[in-house]
Amino acid sequence: MRPQFPHLDIHSHDLSRADKAVVNLSPDDEIPSGVYCSVGVHPWDADKATEVTFARIEAMAQSESVVAIGETGMDVLKGPSIEVQQAVFERHVAVSEQAGKPLIIHAVKTVSQIIALRCRLKPSQPWIIHGFRGKPQQAAELLRHGFYISLGERFNAQTAAMIPVDRLFFETDESELPIELIVENINTHRNATN
Ligand SMILES: [Zn+2]
Repeated sequence: MRPQFPHLDIHSHDLSRADKAVVNLSPDDEIPSGVYCSVGVHPWDADKATEVTFARIEAMAQSESVVAIGETGMDVLKGPSIEVQQAVFERHVAVSEQAGKPLIIHAVKTVSQIIALRCRLKPSQPWIIHGFRGKPQQAAELLRHGFYISLGERFNAQTAAMIPVDRLFFETDESELPIELIVENINTHRNATN
């Protein structure tokens, strides 16, 4: 079932956008009052995660302010070895399942591995690939496997046109642009072909 978020912008690293966005926090952060957030260890920092880190994520995941787990994922271009990143990713999957909250995923050149993991782990929670810039063919593969896709400032125009509305989310991530402009830009490409 499509996850529900309190804001149109489902992923931002900018706390000053908290009135309009789900803000991504690290397990070292305190949850500011009135802020909806996701919590996780970014794959680039996967080698810094300890048992204390995972215990902290589990505890934070119980909060009603935490609406998703992540961002987590795998990135072949940056961060520690893929083995380390995958192990940390799987810990986030476990928290997501336990807490009953969707997973926000950073995938750089690892989409096929992430799909394989979803097939193997058979999670009940939705998995959302964030900041997706891939081609329609890759998006189709993700959609076929039940994934949701979040688009931000930069995206493939043809991909934007082919994602069904019930599988699509929007985000600012690290962008300076307001979410309204990003959504408008994405929708321009959707309306052009639909
Ligand atoms: Zn991000």
